[in-house]
Parts: sequence; C-alpha cells; structure tokens
Amino acid sequence: MLRVAVVGGGPSGSCAAEVLAKAGIKTWIFERKLDNAKPCGGAIPLCMVEEFDLPDSIIDRKVRNMKMISPSNREVDINLENQDEYIGMCRREVMDAYLRDRAAGLGANLVNGLVTKIDTGTKRQGPYTLHYTDYSAGEATGIPKELAVDLIIGADGANSRVAKAMDAGDYNVAIAFQERIKLPPEEMKYYESLAEMYVGTDVSPDFYAWVFPKYDHVAVGTGTMQQNQSLIKGLQEGIRERAKKRLLNGEVIKVEAHPIPEHPRPRRVVGRMALVGDAAGYVTKSSGEGIYFAAKSGRMCAEQIVAASKQGQTIPTEADLKVYIKKWDRKYGATYKVLELLQNIFYRNDAAREAFVEMCDDKDVQRLTFDSYLYKRVVMMNPWQQLKLTFLTLGSVLRGNALAPASYKPVDSAVRSDEEANAMLAVRSITGGIKVRGDRNRAAAANGIASAPGSADPSSSKPEPALSGR
Ligand SMILES: Cc1cc2nc3c(=O)[nH]c(=O)nc-3n(C[C@H](O)[C@H](O)[C@H](O)COP(=O)(O)OP(=O)(O)OC[C@H]3O[C@@H](n4cnc5c(N)ncnc54)[C@H](O)[C@@H]3O)c2cc1C
Repeated sequence: MLRVAVVGGGPSGSCAAEVLAKAGIKTWIFERKLDNAKPCGGAIPLCMVEEFDLPDSIIDRKVRNMKMISPSNREVDINLENQDEYIGMCRREVMDAYLRDRAAGLGANLVNGLVTKIDTGTKRQGPYTLHYTDYSAGEATGIPKELAVDLIIGADGANSRVAKAMDAGDYNVAIAFQERIKLPPEEMKYYESLAEMYVGTDVSPDFYAWVFPKYDHVAVGTGTMQQNQSLIKGLQEGIRERAKKRLLNGEVIKVEAHPIPEHPRPRRVVGRMALVGDAAGYVTKSSGEGIYFAAKSGRMCAEQIVAASKQGQTIPTEADLKVYIKKWDRKYGATYKVLELLQNIFYRNDAAREAFVEMCDDKDVQRLTFDSYLYKRVVMMNPWQQLKLTFLTLGSVLRGNALAPASYKPVDSAVRSDEEANAMLAVRSITGGIKVRGDRNRAAAANGIASAPGSADPSSSKPEPALSGR
C-alpha cells in the first residue's frame, strides 16, 4: 500500500491530503504549528468557496465593493452587481485549521511536527525517510522521530525544505509586509464589505498596497520585488500615510512579513517528490493571489497520484507525477503570463498606474477582471469590446503622464469631515506596529526608490514625486 507524506498544513497540503485520504491512501500531513497564522491578505475568489466546499463560518467578510486608488488619489469603485457574488476575506489561522481538520477527519494522520531533514536515497529516487520533531505532546522541545514513505508532497511554502531536499532550484521572491489594525467602529463599518487597493511609488514601486477587511480589524499591507526589499518598511509607511485618515485611531495588533514566489521553481517533480502551492511557485503576478492556486495544485497533484497508483496499490513513477505538472501548465500557464504582462505594463510608474486605475472605471473592464478573478475562467470579449479596450488603453496611457501627481497626499476620511479627521490626527495617529520615521525621511526613501539603479521604474521620464503631508 502506497505511503505518502504531505509536508505543510496550509491550503495546498490540506487539499492534497484530503484527496489522498478519501481514496484510502495511507497519508501523513505534517504541520509545524497548528495555530499558524500565515501572513496573508486572505482574499479568496468565489469559485473556491464552491469548489472546495467552504462553509460560511470561515469567511469573515463578503466583499462586494473594491476601491482602486491611483497615485493622485483618483478613486474608482468596482461593485459586484450580482447579489450572490463576493470576494471572501478570511483569517488564515481559521481557514487553514478548517481544511487541515477536514483532511484529518477523512483519515489523514495529522502530525504536529516540524520536518527537519529528508533522506532521499540514491539520485533522490528514494526510499524516503523524514526526520521530524514531534510536538504532539505539547512540550516546547518536542521529540525527534522518523518516518519512511514512498512519496512526498512538498506543501511547505516559500521556504520549502522539501524543495531543498529534492534540489528543485531557486526562484525569485517578492516580499510582502502587513499590519493588522483595529479601528474604531465608524471606520470599521466603512470597510465592512469594502476592500481598497492603492497604487503609487510611495506604496510600492512594482506592486500594490491594500486595506482588506477582516473579522474585527483590517489588514493593511504592501509588497515589492526582491531587489527593492530593503525598502519594504518605508513602503508600509507609505500606505499608512496615504490611508491615515481612514485608519484614524488605529491600533496595530499584529505585524507580519513573508516572501511570495514570483514564478515556478526550475524543477517541481524530482523522483517521487512533487511540489505544490507556494513551494512550487504558483502565486500570480499583478494580484499576488496564491490561496486558490495552492489548494487547486494540491488537489490536482493528489488526484494524479490516486490515478497513477490505482488508488494506492502501486507506487507512481517520476513520469507519472510529471503528468500533474503538464496538466497544471496547460490549465494555468496563460493566466500567469497575462498577469505578468499586466504587472510589467501597469505597475511600471505613476503615469501607467493612473492609466490602470482610469481603465478600471470602465464596466467592461470591471466585468472582465471580476469574471476572470472570481471564476478563474478565461473571458472572451466580443470585437466591439476588444476595440473599445484597445482605444481605452491607448487613451489612458497617453493621459497617464498628465494625471500622475507631483506629490502624494492622504485620501480623505470616508466617514468624518476633514476638520475632524485632522483634529484627531493632531492628537494621535496609528499606535504600535512599525516605527514611523516621519515625512522628511520618507520623502527621501520615496525618491530613493525612483532613482535607485535597478528600480522598477527605469522608463519614467518624469521624476517621481516626493511625499507631501503634514
Ligand atoms: C502578506 C501576504 C499577503 C497575501 N495575500 C493573499 C491574498 O489576499 N490572497 C491570496 O490568494 N494569496 C495571498 N497571499 C499568498 C498566499 O498567502 C500563499 O500563496 C498561500 O498561503 C500558499 O499556500 P501554501 O499552502 O502553498 O503554503 P503556506 O500557506 O505557506 O503553508 C505552508 C505550511 O507549511 C508549514 N511548514 C513549513 N515548513 C514546514 C516544515 N518543515 N515542517 C512542517 N510544516 C512546515 C507552515 O507552517 C505552513 O502552515 C499573500 C501572501 C503574503 C505573504
């Protein structure tokens, strides 16, 4: 009987373990920390709720309104018109525990253990022995143990130990930073079913910043590519500064940071070891979305194992496992390419970002974006829509330079007058979290991004603005 170890109890690992356990295959799922709160925005598309049969209890907020905010603070509202459509906002500690427990309930052996070393045999073809520290007894030190298996699924995230053991090769990573902030009831009410996306060199030279609503707080964060990662705290200051009138009297309850893979690893299957989710490198560019793709890749990999092993009667070969990669690339390869292209075009500089937000004001663009995000399907445009989109893109890109701001300003409060907001800010800004250095330094940091060699904005002919503010 086939024995499979799944290393990592995030969405990719749990969704893989669930399929294997359902098929009656002997499955172990290793999770080093059962209450792990993976640093994450926690936004999931609607199709994931149905496809993975997720209950309402794990969804904190059903977001039906999205606000895109340009460098000049142009705000474009994207509202879901169908009543039953939404973007789910989850806390990862809640979602991950649910999926893991479901897999365990179906028969997977859930081990509260940290995998520390993997013996992979000659030419990494096995037999495989996992060395791990077992924390099941609740002791802080844990007990060293070993387990022999026939096949390993590496679902252990961006710092994957399985990827190292199988010599999967490296990938570039972006770095994402996030603060969880508690807000007064008035401010929190505003974010009840609304998520905000901010773009601008002040908040990220190559990605976007976000304010996402959670159960009793908002997640405020930003991301940037590896070459700019030393600037991440300055960028977090940037989003705090831009959104400060909407985060009045905010109190930081948690600070978190984590790498995000930028592309798949050179090798995702070696011997009888396969990578899924972030370990494989399945986060999309532009949106930084990885939860659905993690769950889906875990499921697809496991389904391939079930089929190739005839429900666990034989041990699949490397070639069998590679069928999962082929299927994956066929299904999602184009999506990754298109989103990478969009990121390269529209996150390049403030002029392009202004164009991007302006385009999002168009109903056809909104429907197209939402359909492909919510349902993960390729949406075909009719010729009229294609023509309109082409003209819209050209027009917006041409206007972008004129629209890009000379300096960044905080967006207005959505629930208080400017006088009231300024009076409150004069007494207190956000408490806790990162150390805020003050506007002068931040302005220097923002200019540093624009002029640094290798910055994401080499093509900009217009000097990037410094931050204004109090
Ligand atoms: C700040 C931030 C915001 C994000 N926002 C979003 C978003 O809003 N929406 C979205 O779709 N995606 C988002 N992502 C991406 C998303 O978080 C990942 O793509 C997703 O978590 C990948 O799931 P996974 O199961 O592959 O890996 P992970 O979620 O990283 O899970 C890996 C698990 O393995 C465990 N583990 C690791 N090593 C070992 C070991 N040696 N032994 C035992 N256990 C181990 C870890 O504890 C962890 O639980 C965000 C990422 C970041 C960093």
